[in-house]
Amino acid sequence: MEPIYIPRLTKLPDGTETIEFKEFFQDLETLTPVQGVCRVTHKGNFLETAVKADTIITLCCDRCLQQYNHRLSVETAEFLWLTDGEAIDPEEIPLDEDLIIEEMVETLPKDGTFDVGSWIYEQLCLELPQRKLCSADCGGITLSPSQTEQPDARWSALEALRGQLPN
Ligand SMILES: [Zn+2]
Repeated sequence: MEPIYIPRLTKLPDGTETIEFKEFFQDLETLTPVQGVCRVTHKGNFLETAVKADTIITLCCDRCLQQYNHRLSVETAEFLWLTDGEAIDPEEIPLDEDLIIEEMVETLPKDGTFDVGSWIYEQLCLELPQRKLCSADCGGITLSPSQTEQPDARWSALEALRGQLPN
């Protein structure tokens, strides 16, 4: 996904670029391409970015160690403060609208580019489950009767062979 040159956004209707995508992300191994839509809006002294996307990812269950497929869905928005390359003075951030200062910790140079692909990747990573369980009632590792009672099939071949060997 091409990075967005921030000043270009101001020339678009409503300062908004909408990107529909269906692609694999490097560093994120997914079964299906990540499909969704991202909207980036220039609001004067900040960017408003929003993404809605989903994909299927294979995870390893923390409890039974089996692999399972998980639908990873993300729907989030963020504000990115635009700066001249100087540190931000929190006093200068207008607290009109319903902006919360903690949501504006990320900054971008206003004449620079916004790497929209990396931003979407970060949002997907943040949605990865902390605790990975194949199902809510996963019983953990269980030994099947064949593993506990029956002799291993690989040994039976050796047993048969042993009968054929001369004493
Ligand atoms: Zn499990």
